[in-house]
Amino acid sequence: MLTEKLFYTDSYISNFKATVTGCVKASDCYHITLDKTAFFFEGGGQKADTGLIGDAVVKDVREVGEELIHLCDRELEVGKEYSCSLDWNTRFRRMQQHGGEHIVSGIVHSVYGYNNVGFHMEDDYVTVDFSGELTREQLDKVEEKANEAVCKNYAIKCYFPESSALENIDYRSKLDLTEGVRLVEIENTDLCACCAPHLKNTGEIGVIKILDFMRHRGGIRLVMKSGLDAVDDYRAKYKSVYEISNLLSAKQTEVSAAVERLQSENEKIYREFTDFKKSVAQSTKKSIVFKDRVSYCIVSGFDTDMMRELANFAMERSELCFIFSGDDSVGYSYIAGSNSADMRSVAKEINTMLNGRGGGRDTMIQGKISATEEEILDFIDKM
Ligand SMILES: [Zn+2]
Repeated sequence: MLTEKLFYTDSYISNFKATVTGCVKASDCYHITLDKTAFFFEGGGQKADTGLIGDAVVKDVREVGEELIHLCDRELEVGKEYSCSLDWNTRFRRMQQHGGEHIVSGIVHSVYGYNNVGFHMEDDYVTVDFSGELTREQLDKVEEKANEAVCKNYAIKCYFPESSALENIDYRSKLDLTEGVRLVEIENTDLCACCAPHLKNTGEIGVIKILDFMRHRGGIRLVMKSGLDAVDDYRAKYKSVYEISNLLSAKQTEVSAAVERLQSENEKIYREFTDFKKSVAQSTKKSIVFKDRVSYCIVSGFDTDMMRELANFAMERSELCFIFSGDDSVGYSYIAGSNSADMRSVAKEINTMLNGRGGGRDTMIQGKISATEEEILDFIDKM
């Protein structure tokens, strides 16, 4: 049975009454049909509306032939009239995002001759794919023109022209349809085939912002936001820039230069710190104890790089070396190495005798132990 599509006569209907004409149980929902509906199905790149039919939650809407199927979470009585309501905030924002997309696509088409070859509406942004490449400067111009079209508050008209008249109309379309084509006309800006509900005037879109773009299949993919979603985005980003600018004591428009300065200062500090660690490790080499075939050193506050520096030095000068860093209260990290002994069996001994864990290659091992300095010295004596 044909469902009367209220969104084609008035895209602003958010509350309406309708009679259930069918209710079929499906695997995880009920397929409900109504005599008329303002719930838009998924189409034209726009997602299906959600909302309520009575107290049944509408999760999705699909077009099957002439009928619209509402996927609901509970059973409804056939023949009964119900109050229905759309999640209007979501629908309105989608119409804003969708309108922004039409305007940008129309401008790119008329100025640069590229076609919109893909359009996806996500929860709070849209992506639009174009058949040719554009630079950031060109996109800035597109964005400027798009917002001019918003300020002019152009009319957006949706209509079904006669098939015979369609031949002589130059409109954008991704499909080669000849019948039932619905045109969406934005004064002075765009003419495009589209089945989705639209706003009446461009002024309702409020703002159009092209956020990002990337090369995509020989053209580009734009990421954009329009309307209240763009305002939310601006608010979130403003908060972030405001906080960064306070943290860096920099003007909001100059935070990137301040971050660059901070980065180069960090790199300088890192280089100096690395050099300092190296020099501390160098000067500690004379504290390494060489006893028979074994060498060892117990230090504190050394990181792995510093310990390795000591271990490499000691390994060249003894058969077996042990470097420990830490203290009795928190335990010690260790690195041990040898050019002749199998260190993996030494690791087992350290871990057993000094209550540790760790391992590594046959020439070098590392790990952590829970033992005192006295126990470490005992262990080295037994080696
Ligand atoms: Zn559209």
